[in-house]
Amino acid sequence: MSIANNLQSLERQLPPPAQIVAVSKTRTCAEIMQAYHSGQRRFGESRPQEFLQKVQQLPCDIEWHFIGHLQSNKIKMVLPHAHLIHSIDSENLLAAIEKFCAAGNLSAQVLLQVHIAQEETKFGFAPDELMQFFAQNKVQQYPHITLKGLMGIASNTTDMALVKQEFLTISTLLKQIQTAHPELPFTELSIGMSGDYALAAAMGSTLVRIGTAIFGERDYLT
Ligand SMILES: *Cc1c(COP(=O)(O)O)cnc(C)c1O
Repeated sequence: MSIANNLQSLERQLPPPAQIVAVSKTRTCAEIMQAYHSGQRRFGESRPQEFLQKVQQLPCDIEWHFIGHLQSNKIKMVLPHAHLIHSIDSENLLAAIEKFCAAGNLSAQVLLQVHIAQEETKFGFAPDELMQFFAQNKVQQYPHITLKGLMGIASNTTDMALVKQEFLTISTLLKQIQTAHPELPFTELSIGMSGDYALAAAMGSTLVRIGTAIFGERDYLT
């Protein structure tokens, strides 16, 4: 199977509103250009250095998504080039982004990452922490940031019942926040990877982040 064929087959399986973010971490620019030439424009990277290098080398009509853990001192490498940052995992990071944007008169579009997996090593807000964040109207503290929705990474398991439960947790949380804050453009749900995109799409994903099922196995794990 070629990259173009894989993308075509995924497009067929994933009707709107699910959109494919082609996760291109560890992939060469030549591989990314194969996807690009078959029409893909939305790409996701997870390491600031690699992200910036690819932004500088690849066509400027690519819509870049940042999906990895972001340290405050790397905001300057990522933010000016990112259409959407999926992986906001703390209020400290939000505050640092707000400060960066205010200083440079920039704006940012982000998703809040929710910790839904069983692995403790994963990043993200706890669901009740997020409910509090909105209940306390903290959104107002970040005038340069548009909160567009939620992102989650399910447990790394073949137990699809568990994954489904985790996706249900985050989609329910999204609906609760939408109901409580109809004034926010809180519409995006970034769930689903190569192993669970079909389930994620069935459960309301608007952005599926797919690497392996497009480009093949990665040489090293990230
Ligand atoms: C690597 C990565 C993906 C893509 O994983 P695949 O299993 O290769 O599809 C999705 N989301 C995040 C946050 C990632 O780091």
